[in-house]
Amino acid sequence: MSDLVTRFAPSPTGHLHLGHAHSALFGWTTARSAAGRFLLRIEDIDPNRCRPNYERDLIEDLAWLGLDWDGPIRRQSDHFDDFRTALARLESLGVLYPCFCTRKDIAAEIARAGAAPHGPDGPLYPGTCRHRSAAERAERIAHGDAPGNSWALRLDVEAARRLTGPLRWHDQVQGWQDATPELLGDVVLARKDTPTSYHLSVTVDDHLQGVTLVTRGEDLFFASHLHRLLQALLGYDPPDYHHHGLLRNAAGERLAKRDRAQSLRSLRDEGRSPAEVRAMAGFAG
Ligand code: GLU
Repeated sequence: MSDLVTRFAPSPTGHLHLGHAHSALFGWTTARSAAGRFLLRIEDIDPNRCRPNYERDLIEDLAWLGLDWDGPIRRQSDHFDDFRTALARLESLGVLYPCFCTRKDIAAEIARAGAAPHGPDGPLYPGTCRHRSAAERAERIAHGDAPGNSWALRLDVEAARRLTGPLRWHDQVQGWQDATPELLGDVVLARKDTPTSYHLSVTVDDHLQGVTLVTRGEDLFFASHLHRLLQALLGYDPPDYHHHGLLRNAAGERLAKRDRAQSLRSLRDEGRSPAEVRAMAGFAG
C-alpha cells in the first residue's frame, strides 16, 4: 500500500451526473493504480440545499458504477466542532471580521463604487465591513437577529497574507503556483447559523482525513489559492493537487445537476450498464 490518499467530496444537492462520475473515477483510479486509499466525503454543511435522499442515492450510484472507498464515509454535518475549532484558531490570529452586509448592500456598494474588482466567481466583496470599529461590531452583533442583519465572518485576506508571507502550491497539471488568494477577495468563512463554509470545511477535512492528493475539477482551481492560505494559517501541510478537465455536453457547456438527462440514475434507468456509463465518463476499459 502506498501513502497516496485521494477523495471524492460531493454535495448532496441533486443527483450525480456524468461530470461527477468523471471526477469520482479520476480520484478512485488514481488511488487504486498507486495502491493508495480513496475516501468518500459528503459535503452537506448547507441544510437548505442538501437532502438525505440525495446522499443515499449518490452512495448507491457510486457503488453501482463499481467504485469502492476506504474507511467510513465522512459526513461534514457530523463534524461542526472540528470547523468551530479551526474558526477559533483563525479568530485568535485576528484574520476574521464580522460582515453585516446583505447581498443587496453588497450590490449597492458595488454599483456606487462604479467598478469593482472581479474574481473568477464574479465581483469581489467591496470590503465595507473590514474597517468597522470594535464598538460598532459589538453593537451590530447584539442586534444580530434583526431581519436582514444576519452576520457572516469574512477572512481579511491581506491581514492573513501579511502573517503567512508568500506561499506556493503544486498542481500536477499546471505546475507550481504562487498563491494569489486575493483573487477571491475576503471570502465568507462562517455564518451566524453555520459555523463554516465550503472553503473552511474542505481545508479542515482534507487535513484531518490525511488526503495527500486533492483531485477535483478545474472549476475549483482558484479556490486552491485560498485553501493554501488557510492551510498556512491553520498550520497544515499542503497536499498536492490535480485539477482535471470538466466533461462538457454536445454544446460545449459544463454539465450541471439541473441537466437531468445526464444523471447517472437516468442513464441507468435507460438500461445503460456501469461499464457503458464509465466509458461515457471518460474511463473505458
Ligand atoms: N463539494 C464540492 C462540490 O460538490 C467539491 C469539493 C472539492 O472537491 O473540493 O462541488
